[in-house]
Amino acid sequence: AGPTSLADLRADFPLLDQSVNGHPLVYLDSAATAQRPQVVLDAELEFLEKRNAAVHRGAHTLAAEATEEFEGAREAVARFVGAHADEIAWQANATDALNTIAFAIGAASRGRGGEAARRFALRPGDELVVTEAEHHANLIPWQELAAQTGAVLRFVPVDDDGLWTIEDARAVVTEKTRLVAFAHVSNVTGMVAPVAELVELAASVGALTVLDACQSAPHRPLELGRLGVDFAAFSAHKMLGPTGLGVLYGRRELLNALPPGRTGGSMITTVTMEKAEFLPAPQRFEAGTQPVSQAVALGAAVGYLTDAGVAAVHDHELALATRLYEGLAGIPGLRLIGPGAGVERAGLVSFDVAGVHAHDAGQFLDSRGIAVRVGHHCAQPLHRRLGLTASVRASVYLYNTADDVDVFLEAAAGIRPYFGL
Ligand code: PMP
Repeated sequence: AGPTSLADLRADFPLLDQSVNGHPLVYLDSAATAQRPQVVLDAELEFLEKRNAAVHRGAHTLAAEATEEFEGAREAVARFVGAHADEIAWQANATDALNTIAFAIGAASRGRGGEAARRFALRPGDELVVTEAEHHANLIPWQELAAQTGAVLRFVPVDDDGLWTIEDARAVVTEKTRLVAFAHVSNVTGMVAPVAELVELAASVGALTVLDACQSAPHRPLELGRLGVDFAAFSAHKMLGPTGLGVLYGRRELLNALPPGRTGGSMITTVTMEKAEFLPAPQRFEAGTQPVSQAVALGAAVGYLTDAGVAAVHDHELALATRLYEGLAGIPGLRLIGPGAGVERAGLVSFDVAGVHAHDAGQFLDSRGIAVRVGHHCAQPLHRRLGLTASVRASVYLYNTADDVDVFLEAAAGIRPYFGL
């Protein structure tokens, strides 16, 4: 599939058909949040218009229909990422999903969950490992868990381009390592992690693995069961779905052995005034009323992605990313972050514009109808390591075209001249 083979899909996305500041919108911020096709918008509205009801309770017809659709969406998402339905727990977003794992391990460390949870308990001196390139969502929950348990947070350092290798990880992972958490694809550098090697390394010391799949699940075929990671997290709004919904994946036997860090209604079997017994996964990690219409919409979104062909989406983005990278590399005064030419990268490129603050560059591009992300992209330690406080990030998705990239490149070439540089 070439860069234009998915072009017909663009018409499915109503938001893209508008002008911004007098120019046709060029949306290059899908790594932050993706736009939704009409079928996804329709699926949520139709559910709300016809079947909305509390799920898993009530004997009435609507409740049964809503439950069927809600659970059908779970099955669709599970199929989409190569997992079983009971290994998929709905969360508020990916951040929430990562916190859920950290809260559960925290609970196990306080002795909750009995014998089955003992193996998760952290003790002072145990080590948690992340990389220096992590999104704050996959860093701060582990900082907090370390602070609560006396465990030590260590990190795999990145090089001057923001990259790390499996050899770098080998130097940090030791017999003391209990958990390794890392992004499949960096939201800043676009680097693709050596997942198989890292999973093998973690397994060799008996550590759990947590995959931040926010930037991979929407963009490349993903087989979580086959990858062998223990847990994973991703957000619906980055994969043509709604906000307010994230996905926690966990291997069945792990989820069922972990004590929930959050408790309340809809996740119990028996409750007395003294204590409660919890349902098996995934319900034990779904306390309270769930984002039902959002889940239904995500079910439609993964259906849309499957119809488009995730491998074709990936190829399309790769072609656009190469065009982006090569075009930006040819503009004087830009410093590109991440993998160099010819090295695998995801459909995004972050860069620094010499002498121009990222926010000014972003406003200049916006004045031409081009939407990019500027700032630290929730990765302050990484930016600090690169000697930057902020960068500009252009990211593509299945609805972007070579024209989008070319319009952006032409504008990007004008940033420094506009500021008199
Ligand atoms: N991890 C990565 C790599 C991300 O790109 C993001 C979103 N920017 C997140 C985690 C957090 O996702 P959310 O804000 O939807 O929870």
